[in-house]
Amino acid sequence: MGRKKSAASEPVFDCVSCGACCCNRDQNREIDYDEYVEVVKTDKIRKRPELMEKLTFTNKKGEVHMRLVGVNQRCCALSGRLGESVSCDIYEVRPGVCRRVKAGDEECRKARIERGIDEPPPPKRSKAKASSRRA
Ligand code: SF4
Ligand code: SF4
Repeated sequence: MGRKKSAASEPVFDCVSCGACCCNRDQNREIDYDEYVEVVKTDKIRKRPELMEKLTFTNKKGEVHMRLVGVNQRCCALSGRLGESVSCDIYEVRPGVCRRVKAGDEECRKARIERGIDEPPPPKRSKAKASSRRA
């Protein structure tokens, strides 16, 4: 998987070569939870019945979410290869939750690590305490 890094080896948060946050999170997978990308009444896609029918599902409580597909449980509107080149097929009418994503924030960083786009940080070393025998 392509991993873009700057000269200082810091990840480059380039959404068009990522797509990690468009995939269900590990903590959700662990409990078989697939209601990841909510579509609320004010979202523009609600006015596109053909897209609603094809791309969303409604749970028992009447709440609507984007369908997830494949082993990566990716949003069905995501095209391309994760970590290489991706795009949102419904970018102009994507749900509000997708518009609030901030590249480089904590959730973004976690999602990228979960999908193998960035490596996890090395474990923090606890400061060694001085130990000495004194008279
Ligand atoms: S995980 Fe971060 S860099 Fe990747 S698509 Fe989402 S916001 Fe962009
Ligand atoms: S609607 Fe678009 S931006 Fe939102 S999760 Fe799906 S692919 Fe990503």
